[in-house]
Amino acid sequence: MPTASLPKPEAETRIARARGAYLGLAVGDALGATVEFLTPGEIRRKFAGGHQNIIGGGWLNLKAGQVTDDTAMSLALGEAILASGGKIEALALASALAFDHWMRGKPIDIGNTVRRNLIRFRQTGNPEAPECEHDAGNGAIMRLLPVALATQNCSETDIAAAFKAQAHVTHNNPLSDAGGICLMRLLHIALRGGDWLQLKTEARRLESSHPEYAFYGKRQQENPSGYVAHTLQAVFQAFFTTDSFETCLIDVVNRGGDADTTGPIAGALAGAWYGEHGIPPRWKNALDKRIVQRCREQAERLVSVQHFPHHNP
Ligand code: MN
Ligand code: MN
Repeated sequence: MPTASLPKPEAETRIARARGAYLGLAVGDALGATVEFLTPGEIRRKFAGGHQNIIGGGWLNLKAGQVTDDTAMSLALGEAILASGGKIEALALASALAFDHWMRGKPIDIGNTVRRNLIRFRQTGNPEAPECEHDAGNGAIMRLLPVALATQNCSETDIAAAFKAQAHVTHNNPLSDAGGICLMRLLHIALRGGDWLQLKTEARRLESSHPEYAFYGKRQQENPSGYVAHTLQAVFQAFFTTDSFETCLIDVVNRGGDADTTGPIAGALAGAWYGEHGIPPRWKNALDKRIVQRCREQAERLVSVQHFPHHNP
């Protein structure tokens, strides 16, 4: 018998979506890093039929399946959320400590704004960077997935507060805040099995409040830089014009530029929307096994704990 409306997602489906989002992020990172800083033309010349496989390499000379700072900082943030005792007020300091700990491990790549503000944190002990109009890079939104997973039942106010707590450790910038909060809402819609129109409406709302982000009907954002608006334009254009995890990711990484960051953001969003089963097995199997395990584990713990709302008055 046909149903009049979409079935409400089962608990397991929600978890499959959360896992899809986290694995999607790591897949996008491992896939995109190969072509980071290349132009679309250079990618076409190098890869017949486009870049489509997780093969490592790139300017970081990665092993196949290795990930970069985008995934590493997300995992550090996920640990901080789980350790922060369920208090959004504790999240800024917990995030700063987790990012600083990660930086001490001499990561293979790190953004300039991230490095500068983590050094500032070491010197001052203040987890919140001063507001800076130049810090409109994508570094705070590339790692927000764990916060989105843990805030699915939170009020709008708490969602924004949780995003900013982690974001402002390195990027205290209104444009980054607007893009990040929009991306959190999109992830929430996808994770709960909302509909396509809701996603589009939410993204279009960002365009009207912040025209820097306009993507709809605009020229394809090729060679996206680390500027947060360029990053989200490329991600939205790829996500809203494709109909599978695979085509979305291939679209976005073949635009080149900051592909190891457009890849993970598109991967998290598409993974939340299409679920773990939407990720091509050849990509999932190519990922570093320890990363797969950590992403799966965190996804499950972050959605099932959902402690933020219960501990905030
Ligand atoms: Mn990276
Ligand atoms: Mn990047």
